[in-house]
Amino acid sequence: MSRALFIIDVQNDFTEGGALGVEGGAATAARISEYLAEHGAGYDLVVASRDWHNPDEHNDGHFATESEPDYITTWPVHCVAGTPGAEYHPALDTSHVDAHIRKGQGIAAYSIFEGTDDAGDTIADLLTRHGITDIDLVGIATDYCVRASALDALEHGQHVRVLRDLVAGVDETTSDAAIAELGHAGVAIVDSGALPAATIVASPESGEPGDADADTSAGMSA
Ligand SMILES: [Zn+2]
Repeated sequence: MSRALFIIDVQNDFTEGGALGVEGGAATAARISEYLAEHGAGYDLVVASRDWHNPDEHNDGHFATESEPDYITTWPVHCVAGTPGAEYHPALDTSHVDAHIRKGQGIAAYSIFEGTDDAGDTIADLLTRHGITDIDLVGIATDYCVRASALDALEHGQHVRVLRDLVAGVDETTSDAAIAELGHAGVAIVDSGALPAATIVASPESGEPGDADADTSAGMSA
């Protein structure tokens, strides 16, 4: 088993004071950093995404430039590439992040699977390369980008968990609905406090028959 952590869109524009700030966003950023300090080393791959839209255009209707946003499919201008609003929230410790995904250049892109890293690789590429079988998700927003990313992870055959205390949503009702939907679809909804610390994850108890090289070469080859 190889497990990845996806940190979805913990950006200034999605936290308090941002263009599309969600309540509890900054606190979520801080809690994710605390979680990373204790559990980050237990992941085979840590990926963080950023919404990263084009300036001076509506990004295929994603920005409400000619009417009021409906906060369902049209939104205020947010996360414009290269602006402070598009940067990670300062409370998020990115030192554990192995790959940085950008998504939404000219389009609406709710799922991390729609983006690429600096080398042009997709999430699907990274999952294959690292042999990932299990994905944990945290971040913003529960009812949009976390939801879409978790559903896509299921579609890619992954075992998926959402860490309920490490996500924040645009709206409480739709966030609760998203969590229920994900649970129904097969995503495990767990509390990060219930998970074992990184040192326990590293034990080789899950070795399978024929998995003979576990002793000598277990170290990561980043
Ligand atoms: Zn967006």
